[in-house]
Amino acid sequence: MDRRTVLASLGAVVAASPLRAQEAPNWGAPVIDMHFHMRATPELNIAHQQGAGITAANLLARRDTASAVALRAQKPAMFPCWFGAADVTKPDAEQLLTQAVKSGAKGFGELKFPVAADGPEMRRVYDLAAELNVPVLIHFQEIGQPAAPGGYNTGIKRFAAILKAYPKTKFIGHADAFWANVSADYHEQEAYPTGPIVPGGISDKLLGDYPNLFADTSANSANNALSRDAAFTKDFLKRHQDKLHFGSDCNCEDGKGGGAAQNSDRVAPRMRGKCVAQETLKLLSASSTPAIFRKIAWTNAHRLLGLKA
Ligand SMILES: [Zn+2]
Ligand SMILES: [Zn+2]
Repeated sequence: MDRRTVLASLGAVVAASPLRAQEAPNWGAPVIDMHFHMRATPELNIAHQQGAGITAANLLARRDTASAVALRAQKPAMFPCWFGAADVTKPDAEQLLTQAVKSGAKGFGELKFPVAADGPEMRRVYDLAAELNVPVLIHFQEIGQPAAPGGYNTGIKRFAAILKAYPKTKFIGHADAFWANVSADYHEQEAYPTGPIVPGGISDKLLGDYPNLFADTSANSANNALSRDAAFTKDFLKRHQDKLHFGSDCNCEDGKGGGAAQNSDRVAPRMRGKCVAQETLKLLSASSTPAIFRKIAWTNAHRLLGLKA
């Protein structure tokens, strides 16, 4: 072996050795990703967690509850909980959601169907969630996007009436209409508005006014909103430190921004090639105290789901 070959093979050994795990970021507190869409295989699910330095994740199982149950059994510390979902426009939705909870689901979601957030389909879900004592994770969207045309759970500007009418239901807000509405000047002109926040936005107000509303900080939508105005973000995280929990909604394969899905034109340009989990954890960490970060990254989710932290 000449010197160059030795060095090359040494490099390969270092890259493939367990030392590689140390390259994952350390967030200074344990982190649970509450908005983790299940990937195709157990290995892909684990790779995202390890690459992004994330301790645990709540699996969003859609209807594949068997895979969620199996992965939880395989890696109980990394995947301690999961949510079940069902098409709320179909007559069997209540039966499927009830079945999911009986099989161990800790919540409903995410629910992303083309209905009004205060329409009859979602109202029966809110009743069921109260009865089964599980939270409902809602994708609020008014403006169509390439990856998701049309609206989903529309009418967030009317949502105070729902929060009032269903005091026993725990709601988790998510997606572009929820996060764009942290600014009072939002009139559905675009999905991801930019620029300084105008105080008094609807979602900010709802989080302050209703103890049964929570929010996850997932996706480009939350990252975009919390990147607009550093002073606002710091104050927002402080004021809602008991109502927010971390989520990624990331499509990357390795916890570092890799893979075709996170590099496609269906992903917002500002997040393309980046791991949404890492970007949002950096933002949360830079915008809060260690104590507030720990609540948002770990404690709040555990309390909401009744899990031991
Ligand atoms: Zn969503
Ligand atoms: Zn990622």
